Amino acid sequence: MNELKQASNLSVEVKPLFGLSLTELTAAMERLGQKPYRASQLQHALYRQRITSLDQATTLSHPLRDKLAAEGYVVGLPEIVQTARSIDGTERYLIRMADGETVETVWMPDGDGGERGDGSQAAEDEEAEDSETRTSSAPGFPYRRSTICVSSQVGCAVNCQFCLTAKLGIRRNLTAGEIAGQVAAVLNRHQVELGSTRGNYTPARINLVFMGMGEPFLNYANFMDAVRILTQMPIPESRMTVSTSGILPGIEQFATETVRPKLAVSLNASNDSVRESIMPITRKWNIATLLEALATIPLRTREWITFEYVLLGGINDSLEHAEELIDLVRGIRCKINLIVWNSGPNMPFHEPLQSGVSAFQKRIMAAGIPAYIRRPRGRDIFAACGQLKRTVESAPAPLIAIAPADTLAG
Ligand code: SAH
Ligand code: SF4
Repeated sequence: MNELKQASNLSVEVKPLFGLSLTELTAAMERLGQKPYRASQLQHALYRQRITSLDQATTLSHPLRDKLAAEGYVVGLPEIVQTARSIDGTERYLIRMADGETVETVWMPDGDGGERGDGSQAAEDEEAEDSETRTSSAPGFPYRRSTICVSSQVGCAVNCQFCLTAKLGIRRNLTAGEIAGQVAAVLNRHQVELGSTRGNYTPARINLVFMGMGEPFLNYANFMDAVRILTQMPIPESRMTVSTSGILPGIEQFATETVRPKLAVSLNASNDSVRESIMPITRKWNIATLLEALATIPLRTREWITFEYVLLGGINDSLEHAEELIDLVRGIRCKINLIVWNSGPNMPFHEPLQSGVSAFQKRIMAAGIPAYIRRPRGRDIFAACGQLKRTVESAPAPLIAIAPADTLAG
């Protein structure tokens, strides 16, 4: 019987521990008459060991584990319920929360094709380190680095016209535990060891991109709490990138954070009228307002803002648009990720021509602005954000191999 079913058999409220900060864990332990160091032990078990049930928290005594269980405490990790694996190694999961809501999470070995896969600007020494670790893979660990794409909400309220998640509407925010829990569930599936330097074994390099379902900056507090949990795993915040459609209050608050991921902004258009037609949020905050807010973010050494630009055939992909884009971002320490639109059913858009994509990139590069084309990953498993959830939920006989997670080897 899983821990949720066990707990729901008790007449007490089920209380997930995963996602609680040390302060919250300490308060919970104090309520049970325990010393604060017990909270640190539990914190280690939850975030470093990534336990999936309380009986694995072996640093706590049996009676204490029983007491926690009797009080309704569970680890409460979300569960992978569907897996689709691409021929290119990408795995896309449907992950179920305790209330039955599901979100998508994606595992992309060797980055996500966005050059470094995490929206960051490659530093030469880091690239050298990458190639070194990639060739020295330890037995049983075929990958040396991977990127996980994480969801922040069930659905999304922003309503970008080209996005499948938008079609779901917003169902609810994810909690900090549910956001960080997606990462723990995926790392457990692949038995990834983080932060360990045992012998000559180099730990895997995991990058996180908050580019799954939802708008992280419309769930700001939970999202930032999740970041703080994830740093304890440990995944440094410098290996995380959050993408926003341009939610001004979120960007303003983000500018004041000391521990924060890198920032990617979905610009997707070179002027307000095109942007308004594909991203209605532009009516609330136009491009100029957005760029002003971005200018207040104190960038760290070697930090660049990433502008994402989804290329929609005939809408925003001409060389005139490229020129306009150059004028917009000139002077900002940034790079541009050109994303070829991933088509979805019944959507009034076209993929851009391959020749047009290359010409667009060349024009931007010629202006001295780094621009990368994001190689589509996992096309055969419906790569665009929101696609797996919609496919699984609306099609009883999908075209692709979708199997329960436990029937596929990790
Ligand atoms: N809500 C946030 C993060 C999730 S969307 C945001 O909008 O930034 C992550 C990225 O996927 C965004 O840059 C978005 O523009 C892009 N995207 C959405 N639907 C897409 C599609 N069908 N094809 C290609 N990119 C898409
Ligand atoms: Fe929401 Fe991002 Fe999709 Fe826009 S692109 S609807 S903000 S998930």
